[in-house]
Amino acid sequence: MTAAALIETRTTCPYCGVGCGVIAQHDGVQITGVRGDPDHPANFGRLCSKGANLHLTTLPEVAQTSRLLTPGMRVERSAPMQTVSWDSALDSVAERIAQTVAEHGPDSVGIYVSGQLLTEDYYAFNKLTKALIGTQNIDTNSRLCMSSAVAGYKATLGTDSVPCSYEDIDHARVLFISGSNTAFAHPVLYRRIEAARAANPDLKIIVVDPRRTDTAAEADLHLPILPGTDVMLYQGMLHIMLWESWIDRVFIDARTEGFDQLKAQVRNATPAEVARVCGIDQAALLEATRLFATQGPTLSLYCQGLNQSADGTHKNAALINLHLATGQIGKPGAGPFSLTGQPNAMGGREVGGLANLLPAHRDLSNPAHRAEVAAFWGIDEVPTTRGKTAVEMFEAARTGQIKLLWIVCTNPAHSLPNQQAVHEALSTVPCVIVQDAFASPATLRYADIVLPATPWAEKDGTVTNSERRISRQRAVLPPMGEARHDWLIAAQVAQNLAARWGRLQRGFAWADSEAVWNEWRELTRGTDCDITGMSYAMLDAAPQQWPLREGEATGAARLFTDGRFHTPSGRARFVAQGYKPVADRVDAQFPLALTTGRLRDQWHGLSRTGLVPKLFAHAPEPRIEMNGADMGRRGLREGDLVAVESRRGRQVLPVAASDAMRSGQAFMAMHWGEEYLGGAGTHGVNSVTSDAIDPVSRQPELKHAAVRVSKL
Ligand code: SF4
Repeated sequence: MTAAALIETRTTCPYCGVGCGVIAQHDGVQITGVRGDPDHPANFGRLCSKGANLHLTTLPEVAQTSRLLTPGMRVERSAPMQTVSWDSALDSVAERIAQTVAEHGPDSVGIYVSGQLLTEDYYAFNKLTKALIGTQNIDTNSRLCMSSAVAGYKATLGTDSVPCSYEDIDHARVLFISGSNTAFAHPVLYRRIEAARAANPDLKIIVVDPRRTDTAAEADLHLPILPGTDVMLYQGMLHIMLWESWIDRVFIDARTEGFDQLKAQVRNATPAEVARVCGIDQAALLEATRLFATQGPTLSLYCQGLNQSADGTHKNAALINLHLATGQIGKPGAGPFSLTGQPNAMGGREVGGLANLLPAHRDLSNPAHRAEVAAFWGIDEVPTTRGKTAVEMFEAARTGQIKLLWIVCTNPAHSLPNQQAVHEALSTVPCVIVQDAFASPATLRYADIVLPATPWAEKDGTVTNSERRISRQRAVLPPMGEARHDWLIAAQVAQNLAARWGRLQRGFAWADSEAVWNEWRELTRGTDCDITGMSYAMLDAAPQQWPLREGEATGAARLFTDGRFHTPSGRARFVAQGYKPVADRVDAQFPLALTTGRLRDQWHGLSRTGLVPKLFAHAPEPRIEMNGADMGRRGLREGDLVAVESRRGRQVLPVAASDAMRSGQAFMAMHWGEEYLGGAGTHGVNSVTSDAIDPVSRQPELKHAAVRVSKL
């Protein structure tokens, strides 16, 4: 192949919510390399190690062994999977759904999708579930990462709207990074933070994290709070702000409501009490508060440390309270900026592809909103009752309420908490349909029907990153084998069902992904995330932030600049809720507080990054990290095999000493599944994590579990 034969196609990275622009170099058959897109505003040409090696995940010799390439079915789970035609597979899926609905009703069907889906895929599945099957039982693995952020924004700002942009990093004078190891989880964004600091040496960085992560190690001030004590910390900061008169009384009086209740709530959060509960130094607490309130503009960046908690909604709201109390929102360099985990978690939220949402931020409990969606889809009504969220859906499958699970582009037999219960659910439910690009064995083991889907580089559509910026993801290569696009598979099953049921027969006849997009953007008209002005042609020219209404040339970099919020009164709401400890408490039997997180060079369950040998150089194998003193007390030496046990399950892996955490704590990465452990029956870190969920957001507490560690 000569260099002259290469084509360059602009697309986006499929890993994290930074949403970097990527230029794929290819000959139409094979991708030979990638580079960062210098014109993409998310990364200006930068890529991290994962993005820079994307092409290696598409090599034919790699893909041939890792991909699902043909539809398959089997008569029983002990039988081998038989290759079948697409017609046969699609007809069987429709037949099983129709039969399940006829016998048990629409709520006996559960569809579990993914933040890896493109917006067009998400829209197609959401419409299929809610308009045709007639249930709200669609949820996504984004429930595991972002639903507390959604609930926190709605509780305070009245809508699920990230008010900031990446450019605010350049305007900020204080970055308050809370529950986020940005250097590992959002590497290119962290490069931007480093560049902002180089340009402005006065920029102060505060990191709140139980561990001294790479991000914390570079901070001006690290608050190593005890796991789960975030609300107490933020209430203590507000207590100090009140005491020192560091609040913005004008903003509070003119733009907010509920401050007096919160004031009463934080009265007892004295510095001494907060320092005791959070396990931090009083002087550090005072200094962090002074910087946040008086040296701004302050931009908070936060992620799973707040979200993956049985009190995640209140953690989010308590941090947003600080921005409202100091008037630091809607201004350059200021605001509460939730970083999304997955590349299109935001797109899924926009199309309403979750069990408690309707499209375009419409409210399921609002009859007028339900009527708008029903009229748009040409149906009498959308289902009124909230569906089963991720953890609830698998629990309903385990207890027999859900009879059919359609799992799309995700690996719940690795990624959901309390894996013993999840595997029991997958064994119990009468029908499991797995639609995926990759042949990840854990979930596939339970499949009755397999549908091969196209992955990154073969599919075409849009994604929304953490700063509300929508980019095109483009097909570079033809689909491998018989793989089909996720939206198309949803549409083809829907058309089969529509013909059986005699309704909505033209509702899914999209010619291509652009047709899906055009239908979707029309449904946003008049909402706070209106993107009626955002055509594929516009996005092909440059990615854009929402909202971008018909006739507008660009989107909004910053929201709430006029001080008006999406609440009935137009005022932002303070949320007054007390501190709640972690759900899974340490005690004499389970004395260690285990936290979980990402590695720098791996992504989720390794289905893609696990295909690139050099990405293992940073961390070649799973391990549990412990403080050296805790290892000494247990007679453990570096590399010893240990059993990690919680109230739910057990995992065996080597131990490693780390001074990044204090005595009484431990850390395990989330990525390693059965392929890297002991094979079938071993479940990685989620054998020990808890399925306790936040009562508002329904997000599980994946970040923390009480465990004991013993030498084998
Ligand atoms: Fe991809 Fe995220 Fe790395 Fe950017 S920072 S290249 S989006 S993994």
